[in-house]
Amino acid sequence: MKQNRKFLRQCVFCREYKSKEDLIRITKTKEGFVEINNAGDVQGRSVYICKNAECIKNALKKKKIEGSLKSNLPESIKEELSTVLKN
Ligand SMILES: [Zn+2]
Repeated sequence: MKQNRKFLRQCVFCREYKSKEDLIRITKTKEGFVEINNAGDVQGRSVYICKNAECIKNALKKKKIEGSLKSNLPESIKEELSTVLKN
């Protein structure tokens, strides 16, 4: 069993707690760049979102990520998230 409940993160849209493997991490760096950072090696304000179409689509539509990061979401990030959806 490789479950570690201490490290559950909350999805910015559905508010469910999940393990990091089930989430996409988006980080705003100190320099103000927004990037997808699944490895978790970039310091900064981060939001997590489920790897499912429902959460990604709705979070983008309702600007949940922008709201949490207090920053605009670059088109490249939106495209990257859409790519995740197709996989
Ligand atoms: Zn979710």
